[in-house]
Amino acid sequence: MVSRASGQYLACKNCRRVYTKSELEAERKRRDSKVLTCPYCGSTSFTRKFTNIVLIVDPEKSIIAKELSIIHPGVFAYSLE
Ligand SMILES: [Zn+2]
Repeated sequence: MVSRASGQYLACKNCRRVYTKSELEAERKRRDSKVLTCPYCGSTSFTRKFTNIVLIVDPEKSIIAKELSIIHPGVFAYSLE
């Protein structure tokens, strides 16, 4: 990830999934809601501060996925601040 664009990414504090701001804005408009909601788990708690992004393709074979208790493929923040 290019650091210049890091401000555009938000990580869900509940499931650690990483989204772009515009992606979440589009979801918010679609739901006609006032708050940004995680499309995956429904959490409204996000952080811009996270270190490293991991792409989990095959959770069953991934050691990191086990470590982070991830059971579905996707892009995740490795550690949240
Ligand atoms: Zn979530």
